[in-house]
Amino acid sequence: MKRVHNFSAGPSMLPLAVLEKAQADLPDYQGSGMSVMELSHRSGLFTDIITNAEKLLRELMNIPDHYKVLFVQGGASQQFAAVPLNLMKNGKADFVNTGSWSKKAIKEAKKYLDVNVIASSENENFTYIPTVHKDMIDPEADFVHITTNNTIEGTAYHEIPDTGNVPLVADMSSNILSEEIDVSKFGVIYAGAQKNIGPAGLTVLIVREDLIGNATPQCPTMLDYQTHSDSDSLYNTPPTYGIYIAKLVFEWLKDLGGLQAMQARNEKKAALLYDYIAVSDFYSSPVKEESRSIMNIPFIIPGRDLDGEFVKEAQQEGLETLKGHRSVGGMRASIYNAMPVEGVEDLIAFMKKFAENHQ
Ligand code: PMP
Repeated sequence: MKRVHNFSAGPSMLPLAVLEKAQADLPDYQGSGMSVMELSHRSGLFTDIITNAEKLLRELMNIPDHYKVLFVQGGASQQFAAVPLNLMKNGKADFVNTGSWSKKAIKEAKKYLDVNVIASSENENFTYIPTVHKDMIDPEADFVHITTNNTIEGTAYHEIPDTGNVPLVADMSSNILSEEIDVSKFGVIYAGAQKNIGPAGLTVLIVREDLIGNATPQCPTMLDYQTHSDSDSLYNTPPTYGIYIAKLVFEWLKDLGGLQAMQARNEKKAALLYDYIAVSDFYSSPVKEESRSIMNIPFIIPGRDLDGEFVKEAQQEGLETLKGHRSVGGMRASIYNAMPVEGVEDLIAFMKKFAENHQ
């Protein structure tokens, strides 16, 4: 068996221990004579899976009781519409524009309400996270929307803005479960699963209870948070296999010591790479130091046209998917929870060798 170090931004690598457990369970899940894919979503065995997945996520993220955990479909992109449809009252919302995914959220929200972009880093190519003060927020806004980690640009918030009484909504797709966060600061958290949670096809929502039950009459049933809240995420057939893999990932995280331990490991991995880039006179980071993501690390080779060669040679060494997003160029190493420290060490060893060969 060959396993590579997969630096993909998503879908991205899963822990090998999870894949092996899923493999062992595959043909006959707990004596049922079926795989989880073949189990009814109303069966007792699946009820155990979804109940435990939620319980583990609550434990890992320390989610207060007055928040619902919902397992839905449609990706984070579906939430760009679902959020305004569920939260609009006054018909206006404040957004912070920190990159490609924020822009998509803004574009979709504009179909439903007046969007006020209260801060943006577009003037400097989204290389930093703009400061958001409470006095910048419209007290009448239905919500404030942020993208906590910008997968493409490699930036992340290191302090969550205080939005007072206006609910804070966060697209946490690319950094959920990577570090400890205070859920009580948020009204809604949403994340596509395909980075730190499990396979694509599952979307996780964490919604404060008072924000459920207020959807506009036009809101499609499947986008209404109330639908999924009332039915414990079983209104229709949920992405059962994705929920099962997510449960295994949550167990793996818990065994490793939970989010505190994972955060320390992630900070260590990111520091290794940033520190090497800082001392290297070959590579550089396009992102301002105070705004750097510990999940997605873009880097460039200034003044040289070597990106294609770098990606090709890296791949030959088992270092996969290092090409930067087409909108920013250069390289990007996505080092989510499942990437071991050795993966980053191997990448740095390759970067050193590549730099020596091309100086
Ligand atoms: N937001 C962010 C921050 C993302 O990284 C992504 C996916 N890369 C999305 C939204 C879109 O997610 P999905 O493909 O699940 O719709």
